[in-house]
Amino acid sequence: MNHQSLHKPGFVQETGLPILEPLLDPVIRTLATEQQSKLHDWVGSYGSPLNMVFPHTIGINHARLAGVLDAHAVKSKIFYAAKVNKSHSLVAEAVQCGLGVDVSSRFELRDALDAGCAGGDICASGPAKGDTFHHELIAVNALISIDSAEELEDLLALLTDELSGTKARILLRFRPASNKHSRFGIPHEQLHACLQVVAQNTDRLAFEGFHFHLGGYRADNRVEALIELSDWIMVAREYGLRVEMLDIGGGLPIRYLDAGTYADFIDVQTSSHYRNGKVPGSYYPYGGPNEADDWLDQFLSATGPSSKSVAQYLKDEGITLALEPGRSLVDQSAITVFRIARTKRQPDGSFVLFVEGSSFSACETWFASEFLIDPILVPAASSTREQDGSVRAYIAGHSCLEEDVITNRLLPFPFQPLAGDLLVYANTAGYQMDLLENEFHRVPMPRRVSISADLATVQPDDHKGASR
Ligand SMILES: *Cc1c(COP(=O)(O)O)cnc(C)c1O
Repeated sequence: MNHQSLHKPGFVQETGLPILEPLLDPVIRTLATEQQSKLHDWVGSYGSPLNMVFPHTIGINHARLAGVLDAHAVKSKIFYAAKVNKSHSLVAEAVQCGLGVDVSSRFELRDALDAGCAGGDICASGPAKGDTFHHELIAVNALISIDSAEELEDLLALLTDELSGTKARILLRFRPASNKHSRFGIPHEQLHACLQVVAQNTDRLAFEGFHFHLGGYRADNRVEALIELSDWIMVAREYGLRVEMLDIGGGLPIRYLDAGTYADFIDVQTSSHYRNGKVPGSYYPYGGPNEADDWLDQFLSATGPSSKSVAQYLKDEGITLALEPGRSLVDQSAITVFRIARTKRQPDGSFVLFVEGSSFSACETWFASEFLIDPILVPAASSTREQDGSVRAYIAGHSCLEEDVITNRLLPFPFQPLAGDLLVYANTAGYQMDLLENEFHRVPMPRRVSISADLATVQPDDHKGASR
């Protein structure tokens, strides 16, 4: 564990509000605490909010997963789920680390190829892949996860007409019983027929195995799904098909703050801690009991099919375990820095901090939830202020939407933040910083820059905009 908290967990006494210190990668910690002038310089050059990406973190996250896979001696293949963040430099780093890429659009496919990923190391998931996407995937020999009987039909038609003489590498995506209300994957009822179709068309389809991806962050429902699938692996073999790969998707959890601090917070928080008087109904498990490596170890150690451990089962069956981690490969991979544009005192003595930027760049409130770590306050170098007198404040975007609130949670600050100060949100790479970003009010898209691990080089890493 090399993340470090800035302070001990606790409360800012005068405000009565709990502190939720983010865990920080050591490089990011150095930037946020010892090299704050760099942050001001970069926001000065690139504007606010500024999305800063730290590609070195991918290698750290990969190494932790690889350590568990090695310890269990299972054959494995990791595909980086590119949808988690639009940064090209993160895809490029994943490819540098020897990972494949999981793509869900033609544009993600092209980004992966531009990053130097071999077509054969690309896996395509997604429920609505059309002919054009299939074409491009087959052209580079990518692995296609078939989401439905209908997709299988369409793919076969394509391989019969326009692409006759070509073979497509496929997985069948399975819909486990625990997910029976999901629209993704092939339900039990149709799997038999699909396997039969695959077995009848081995001249056009190179079947490699099965895939699933579950919502939520528990390891045990992945074990259950694998146990269900083990029966289908036998059915596939009865059809003469070889099952080489089992792809269990993503959903490996990460931790944004100390687990004890998080648990205490969940216990003590009340509606008075929120400016709108509402405790959100659900959150990502920000300080959950497991991180991705613990999760993977639990999965592989659990009792799987035939009362063997999952790891032993995979080894005995000669099956490669594939993973498609998104969020867990970009743990600590970005921070988002907002500059405060204006502060406004409220009748109850608390403050609103209006930032340059909007909640589309820190988007949990749009999902009726909250990002449960505190931003780090980096005062403007030139300003002088009284160090005493803590304040409560919430953070709003610059737009005219009442809903444009970055955090409804009242945050404790040791002194009053002022215009020109920076607020640094840690760990925003995973579905946080750029999922909903847009040009509302005609404000240009936030910039993204890629920062080297020695903090010496900054490179623009903006999305180029894809041509159709
Ligand atoms: C989104 C997605 C992933 C990545 O999920 P994370 O929770 O980010 O790890 C992997 N596979 C599929 C099929 C997905 O849709």
